Amino acid sequence: MECKKYVYLFKEGNAKMRNLLGGKGANLAEMTNLGIPVPQGFTVSTEACVKYYTDDKKISEDVKNQIDEALQKLEEITGKRFGSSKAPLLVSVRSGARVSMPGMMDTILNLGLNDNTVETIAQLTNNPRFAYDSYRRFVQMFSDVVMGIEKRKFENLIEQAKEENGVKYDTELNSEDLKKLVAQFKELYKKEIGEKFPEDPKTQLIEAITAVFRSWDNPRAIVYRRLNDIPGDWGTAVNVQSMVYGNMGNTSGTGVAFTRDPATGEKKIYGEYLINAQGEDVVAGIRTPQPITKLKEDLPECFDEFMDIANKLEKHYKDMQDMEFTIEQGKLYFLQTRNGKRTAAAALKIAVDMVEDGSITKEQAVLRVEPKQLDSLLHPAFDASALKKSEVIAKGLPASPGAACGKIYFTAEEAKSHHEAGEKVVLVRLETSPEDIEGMVAAEGILTVRGGMTSHAAVVARGMGTCCVAGCGELNINEEEKIFQVKGKTYHEGDYISLDGSTGNIYGEIIKTSSPEISGYFGTFMSWADDIRKLKVRTNADTPRDAQQAIEFGAEGIGLCRTEHMFFNEDRIPKVREMIVAKTTEQRKRALDKLLPMQKEDFIGIYEAMEGKNVTIRFLDPPLHEFLPSEDEDIKALAEDMDIPFEELKSTVSYLHEFNPMMGHRGCRLTVSYPEIAEMQTRAIIEAAIEVTRNKGFNIEPEIMIPLVGELKELKYVKDIVVETANSIIKSEGIDLKYKVGTMIEIPRAALLADEIAKEAEFFSFGTNDLTQMTFGFSRDDAGRFLCDYYDKKIYESDPFAKLDQIGVGKLMEMAVKLGKSTRPDIHLGLCGEHGGDPSSVEFCHRVGLDYVSCSPFRVPLARLAAAQAQIKNPR
Ligand code: ADP
Ligand code: MG
Ligand code: MG
Repeated sequence: MECKKYVYLFKEGNAKMRNLLGGKGANLAEMTNLGIPVPQGFTVSTEACVKYYTDDKKISEDVKNQIDEALQKLEEITGKRFGSSKAPLLVSVRSGARVSMPGMMDTILNLGLNDNTVETIAQLTNNPRFAYDSYRRFVQMFSDVVMGIEKRKFENLIEQAKEENGVKYDTELNSEDLKKLVAQFKELYKKEIGEKFPEDPKTQLIEAITAVFRSWDNPRAIVYRRLNDIPGDWGTAVNVQSMVYGNMGNTSGTGVAFTRDPATGEKKIYGEYLINAQGEDVVAGIRTPQPITKLKEDLPECFDEFMDIANKLEKHYKDMQDMEFTIEQGKLYFLQTRNGKRTAAAALKIAVDMVEDGSITKEQAVLRVEPKQLDSLLHPAFDASALKKSEVIAKGLPASPGAACGKIYFTAEEAKSHHEAGEKVVLVRLETSPEDIEGMVAAEGILTVRGGMTSHAAVVARGMGTCCVAGCGELNINEEEKIFQVKGKTYHEGDYISLDGSTGNIYGEIIKTSSPEISGYFGTFMSWADDIRKLKVRTNADTPRDAQQAIEFGAEGIGLCRTEHMFFNEDRIPKVREMIVAKTTEQRKRALDKLLPMQKEDFIGIYEAMEGKNVTIRFLDPPLHEFLPSEDEDIKALAEDMDIPFEELKSTVSYLHEFNPMMGHRGCRLTVSYPEIAEMQTRAIIEAAIEVTRNKGFNIEPEIMIPLVGELKELKYVKDIVVETANSIIKSEGIDLKYKVGTMIEIPRAALLADEIAKEAEFFSFGTNDLTQMTFGFSRDDAGRFLCDYYDKKIYESDPFAKLDQIGVGKLMEMAVKLGKSTRPDIHLGLCGEHGGDPSSVEFCHRVGLDYVSCSPFRVPLARLAAAQAQIKNPR
């Protein structure tokens, strides 16, 4: 039997093999092919990771053999050998999934060191300090990353060593100090693990590779995948790469750089480096790095070569590159390149600039920007005048733009729980690490004391579009006591601060924010998306203000105007209650008569804001008791108000109580019981339309949407009321007004019988919130509590209320589309659930042939972009 190939030398791969080799591996291979200096190595494929899981979390003999073979070849290429006392091979072990994924295992450097090889390295380099420094880093990383021994315990030992020797930086420890440190580290290892530290490089390697595979399923990675729609079955690749050294003295160094500014998109090299340092030193924020441009003074030849390669890479990939490099005694190596993460503003500028300079097409540009990223541009910035009046208490690095104002919390857990309790929070940390991810998601803004523009906090915040100020060394933070001090003032947990991620300024107070607008690069970019897309985008809006906002964001109509929200108004609710407790039709009609002018006013406002664009208005949907008071005291007050006996009202309230209100007396069922409600709403909709048509000259064609329909006769009953009422008004007004009557498809029965329903419905709008609820049988309001168990047990990967369940609920939708069209070929089809603002769900709607999606105003730009991307990927 021929064996499947699981291990690839860098020279055997290329950039197209990303799914197999992971992003990092594929690009290391591509750079190797381009002749760029890359330390050689091999990649254990993502398929090997998948196999590891199907083989019961073991690396099979077959894969181990292939690793051995590749290792031998690497030994030939480098002329070094694992464990050799003449020329020992040392490697790094680096994880790399298809897409870059924080939360995965940290890189292990200097693997292959042991008590023998460290001596050889010391002799070969004539630099025992360097050898022992590398060794202590390796023991530390292996123990922490592979075996899970707390980092802090090692750092304490380092601090202790520094104190004993009276020095401030770890670079000041000499080889003897470091040798002692290694011994202490190993002792700690033995104490924690119960076994000696593994000296055999091959054992070290297999352990490290296993740890990378294992980390694919650690909780941080799972959270990240869920937030970013990354399937759990992709797996990660592992790269094993021979080491080069940035910590060999003052002609060595290591750094990271972007070919364009990742915050603004400006076309200039942007990055930082450290002389005499290794790997993670730059991002860990231990020493403050130098800007990349200073390399021109330190090592001019390296700088020139670096710039040449950086330009070459950007041209080759036709995108902004994020690169990692190391200089070993004056020789430059590239360790990574990838399309750089960037803020939304930078993404737009880069996309537009690259189209304008002819590097990419408009279609390519449109695919470059993540729809979800746009969100950050739509959120408020500080009100300029309020900002001027506020005092800057400290300044850090402007790591991720935007404005944030909230209460400070010092741990991710606290940030998360206070956010869930409805507070706006700012997460303040010495530095962040992948464990903080959930707290970072919950925070309006993130503030760190240590770390540069490429620190964990900065990179992750930019990716999420969250405001971040990093590396504010002025702050004196005490995470245990939950305070920080600056300029003699102490800020406690729960105090308000404001962060400006675009300037790095920190304010010790609440600052007002102002709304954003779509213009400049954003406007240009969105106009390309609009030219491309076929799917229309409407909005869910219940007030003229929301409607106005949505139009500014490019909405082409209202897909869902929920009339009940208008009923909750303080001056209306008494009249609504009067309608609900009415004993006779007469009484109910009287109450409805009082509501009529108010509803009409609302619709006039909305029609005017929409300036003739389509407006779909949905009839009253929720169960009536939602409008009634539940506490005795409130019932008493209302009874007095309405001049009816308390007992009577109380019994009405309890009569209206339902055990399962979401499946109770709501939606069109209300009209079946009380046709006068539909009559009043029709009257308001039609009279408002006539008035605005006459006064403003807009051509208004209202779309009346009947919710919760499950049966043709039910729809017909309500529709007849609508048609009769509307036609008589239109006739008596002597005007030529058109209107449509349609239905929501949100009950599975309606989807199953869509051909029937379409006989009466002129349009369908998929109400995917209820449709999901009723298809899964999950309560929308309660499912959050147990869905986490489903994620843990890998039964479901994501929340079906946020991301459309394309295989289940989607199947019903596809069926309803087909059936509906079979009866009424020109039936107008839309979606108005939460899913209208989710990119993958928008793509689904495009694919199954809907005419539009409707989402909340702030998600309209996202949906426009997602629809354009869907058209490019899947033209229709
Ligand atoms: P991440 O995905 O977190 O960026 P990497 O695998 O890129 O992790 O590794 C982090 C850093 O470790 C690199 O930027 C580089 O500085 C250092 N590093 C990794 N492999 C090597 C190597 N073979 N030689 C020298 N340094 C390395
Ligand atoms: Mg990296
Ligand atoms: Mg519904």
